[in-house]
Order: sequence, then C-alpha cells, then structure tokens
Amino acid sequence: MFKALLITKNETAQSVAVTDIDESQLPEAAVTVKIEYSTINYKDGLAVTGKSPVVRKFPMVPGIDFAGVVESSDSDLWKAGDRVVLNGWGVGEGHWGGLGQKARVKAEWLIRLPDAFTARQAMAIGTAGYTAALCVEALERNGVKPEAGEILVTGATGGVGSVAIALLSRLGYKVVASSGKAGEAEYLNSLGASQIIDRNELSNPGKPLQKERWAAVVDCVGSHTLANACAQTRYGGHVAACGLAQGMDFPASVAPFILRGVSLLGIDSVMAPLAVREAAWKRLARDLDASKLEAISKVVSLGEAAAAGADIVSGKIRGRVVVDVN
Ligand code: NDP
Repeated sequence: MFKALLITKNETAQSVAVTDIDESQLPEAAVTVKIEYSTINYKDGLAVTGKSPVVRKFPMVPGIDFAGVVESSDSDLWKAGDRVVLNGWGVGEGHWGGLGQKARVKAEWLIRLPDAFTARQAMAIGTAGYTAALCVEALERNGVKPEAGEILVTGATGGVGSVAIALLSRLGYKVVASSGKAGEAEYLNSLGASQIIDRNELSNPGKPLQKERWAAVVDCVGSHTLANACAQTRYGGHVAACGLAQGMDFPASVAPFILRGVSLLGIDSVMAPLAVREAAWKRLARDLDASKLEAISKVVSLGEAAAAGADIVSGKIRGRVVVDVN
C-alpha cells in the first residue's frame, strides 16, 4: 500500500483526498518509481479544483511531474536505483501521476535526473521551470541575444516566470518583470529582474501596434497581455507564448507579425520530444543558479497539496510549490 492524492467524481461533483492505494491498482506500464517529490503546477491546480477539465478519466492521481528512484523496470532503458524525472506526457491527466508515493509509467517518459540537482531541487524547478527553459531555448534558437535589448517576462512571480527571470538574468539579459503583486518587487529583483511593471499596463485591450520596446517576451499569461506584448515587441523580435493565466483567448491583430516581422513561438512542454526535454534540463543544470531555488520554492505535504492547488488557481502562490509525498 502507498499514499496518493486521489480525485474521484460522481454525477454532480469531484472530490479529492489522500487515499491508501494498493500497488496492484497502479496502471500498466514498464517502470515503477518510488517518488520522492512532486509539485503543484497551474495545471495540477486546475485538476484538483476541477476548474478546467484537464483530468480525462476518474479516479485519477493528479501530478504532472515527479522526481524519484526507479524501484523496478521491465525496460532496458532503466534499472532499479536510477534517479529519474518526469514532466508531462499526459501524466496526472489521463495516466496516474506524481502526487503519490509511487507511480508506474512508460520507460520513454522518464529522463535521468541531472547530477546538478537533488530530487527536491528538480521539483523546485518542476514542469514550470522546465517550460521556462523551453522558452529560453526557443528564443535563443531564433537568434535572440542579451545585447538585443529588454526581455519582458509576464506572470513574473509564478513558477514559469520566476525561473525564466532567474535563467535570463544569469545569461546576461536585461529582464523586465510584469506582475500583479506589488509587494513582491524585492523577490523579483533578487531573481534578477531589472525593472518591474504593473501587469495592468498589459492586461487590458490595447492598440494593434504600440511603442516598440521588447527584444523578446516570455509570456505566461495569454489573452490581452499576450496581444499587447506582441504589439510592443520591436521589429524582428520574438515572443515565446507558453501560458494562459489571464485567458486562453488571443484578442490580437496580425499587425505585429506582418508589419514588424515579429515571431510568435509556441511552447509546449507536455509532448515535447526527448531531445528537446534533455536540452532544456541540460540548460537548467548549466545556467540556473541553484541557490535561487530556495527563494523560489516552498515545500508542502501531500495532505496540503489540494489546498495549494486551489491557491495556485486563484493566483495566491509565489514561485513554486514542491510536494514532499512521503
Ligand atoms: P503560476 O500560477 O505559478 O503563475 C501564473 C502567474 O500569472 C501568476 O503568478 C500571476 O503572476 C499571473 N497571473 C495570474 N492570474 C492572472 C491574470 N488573471 N491576469 C494576468 N496575470 C495573471 O503558473 P505557472 O507559472 O506554473 O504557469 C504559468 C502558465 O503557463 C499557466 O497558464 C500554465 O498553465 C502554463 N504552462 C504551460 C506549459 C506548457 O507546456 N505550455 C507548461 C507549464 C505551465 P503575477 O502575480 O506576478 O502577475
């Protein structure tokens, strides 16, 4: 038996509770992992609150990521004792996930835990931080360089935003953080933001083309914020779009794309191919100042995870929430 957060659903509502689970109930797959840490990402918040239909079957153990040790493996890719990380692949949505003490997953879904990080640090980064690294990779692949000018990061105090700021500032970029949390200026500066703007400057309907400012953007927010960020991006600049914290809509015009040659780069962490994932984690191991992870993250127990999920959806969380499942 092991403990996991379990979401169950009847005709009218879903409920979430820490539940004792028999190992025989784990889904069929090649590798059984003893989980050390998982996390609460925005999507986990949506899953545990039921606010969006991210869970595709019930009962479901949520948790889109975890770090731990292989307990047993029917695959040549892994052996007992290997230290592993998992992000995405529909885990915690359609396949039982990381918010429990054990998981059984496909061998191809796992990657090796980088030596640079403990399991707890890897989950302080989590899917949010790995997505921040995917954004930075995409910008640099498209030729963005520190000397190009200011980089805007929206949803700055969130998980993706916090890690994006830490990564970009370490790489020498001048980072402007857009945040709704006026009291978190010190935190954002400590991560490396050189300026903070109020997110209200970006979150309302704006003109299709505005004063050019950003060499590049990491957008975690979507909706009007993304539209305004594109409208303020300089000629030939790049916008990495990864999130929808304000909304899934994109009320924009094509003007920035066809008149200023701005490029919109879509970022998906869930189905990203193995090589892309490994490159992102390698970058995190190389370019992220691991000492900043303490300020970015806090640790909660499995019993506190559902409440943290509700908090992330209502925008109350700063940085990352690591879950000690044991
Ligand atoms: P968080 O909840 O940690 O951060 C989101 C941040 O967005 C908040 O901290 C807040 O920052 C800001 N925000 C919240 N609500 C609003 C609003 N109504 N209007 C404007 N800004 C708002 O989430 P994550 O950082 O983990 O994820 C960020 C986004 O990226 C989410 O939408 C998530 O679903 C998405 N995501 C996508 C992935 C992908 O594969 N594409 C992978 C991981 C995440 P502040 O208070 O500083 O303004």
